Amino acid sequence: MGGGGGVSNEGLENFISQNTPRDSISQSAPRVPRGQGLRFPERPAPPGAYRTRTLWPVRYAGWRASPGRFPGGDGGAMDSPEVTFTLAYLVFAVCFVFTPTEFHSAGLTVQNLLSGWLGSEDAAFVPYHLRRTAATLLCHSLLPLGYYVGMCFAASEKQLYYPSQTPETWRAFLLLALMLPTITCTLIYYWSRDRWARHPLARTLALYALPRSGWRAVASSVNTEFRRIDKFATGVPGARVIVTDTWVMKVTTYRVHVAQQQDVHLTLMESQQHDLSPDSHLPVQLLTIRVASANPAVQAFDIRLNSTEYGELCEKLRAPIRSVANVVIHQSLGDLFLETFASLVEVNPAYSVPSSQDLEACIGCMQTRASVKLVKHCQAAAAGECQQCRCRPMWCLACMGKWFASRQDPQRPDTWLASRVPCPTCRARFCILDVCAVR
Ligand SMILES: [Zn+2]
Ligand SMILES: [Zn+2]
Ligand SMILES: [Zn+2]
Repeated sequence: MGGGGGVSNEGLENFISQNTPRDSISQSAPRVPRGQGLRFPERPAPPGAYRTRTLWPVRYAGWRASPGRFPGGDGGAMDSPEVTFTLAYLVFAVCFVFTPTEFHSAGLTVQNLLSGWLGSEDAAFVPYHLRRTAATLLCHSLLPLGYYVGMCFAASEKQLYYPSQTPETWRAFLLLALMLPTITCTLIYYWSRDRWARHPLARTLALYALPRSGWRAVASSVNTEFRRIDKFATGVPGARVIVTDTWVMKVTTYRVHVAQQQDVHLTLMESQQHDLSPDSHLPVQLLTIRVASANPAVQAFDIRLNSTEYGELCEKLRAPIRSVANVVIHQSLGDLFLETFASLVEVNPAYSVPSSQDLEACIGCMQTRASVKLVKHCQAAAAGECQQCRCRPMWCLACMGKWFASRQDPQRPDTWLASRVPCPTCRARFCILDVCAVR
């Protein structure tokens, strides 16, 4: 292992050397003299523990290469169940909080584990999210305590179950692990008083309540609209965007942002172009839209969506979306290409039809008249390159652009403009320079 991994290794070594009572190990394992910790002392694994030797070959290779950088003496520290447990618990905790797709499909989410108590989101959107945000907060705050309890078993020689006898760092950790859920419980108790009226979501809804009606009237309007199938919904589970006839909402892990459509200002803040999306292998454009309410008490929030969903979002919104940074929205790769294709054809020399010739309808769409003719203008002369097409104008510009795009590799949009495709009628190859508008 090179110098790049040094920081984390040292951190881990310090952690191990501080937290491993060496004497307790040396009673059961033969001590290896300092600097000779090249091989693992053959210490029998405790029952139920699995060894990490095969999991971390790089680490062990590094150990052999430069033993001085690793803790000497009882070299079995890396092999111990507590390190294995720590790593496994860390991975579990991160996945439990950020819930990658695998955890969702395995049902390891707070929503799924507590679905009986949470009820159905479709049946009652607001009550469901009041409970879900509280339950999520509580479950996540219990994670450090879960680690401590797990360590009681994984490192039984530390005697963590007698807090009075454990090292100070562990006692501090236990105190923190107990304080987190205590604070969370207090907060949730406060929220749930007066039938959840103090929950942040209920308070936001109360801002939209009419005089002499409470937040529950607003909540039932939200519930009703959420049940409709014509709502716009998109986004990953940790940042869902829902737009109904009256409301713009964003559902995150711990919060639900709500704003009423009639008093929001929508601003397209930025667009990020990602070359490839993992799902489709196509470039994607992600748009960030700021939703700010005219009511200063309603907190502004950002929603993010794919540019291909932008049209659908606009249909659902009543207010226009303003753009701050001249962001060009590409609703699909095809749209983007047709625009570019048309602008390139415009600068090519025009083709004048002989007066005796009538322009027929485009044979691709039958909607408009043919408007382009292929005339070889480029300098390519080699075999396999452009040839002269002798067809009369038969296609409109849009259909020719679509034909050109359809012959391209969707995985490599960067090659599109420079490629050659056969004429749809006579198969003579042409490039974009050879497409001429008909005058
Ligand atoms: Zn056409
Ligand atoms: Zn042709
Ligand atoms: Zn050409």
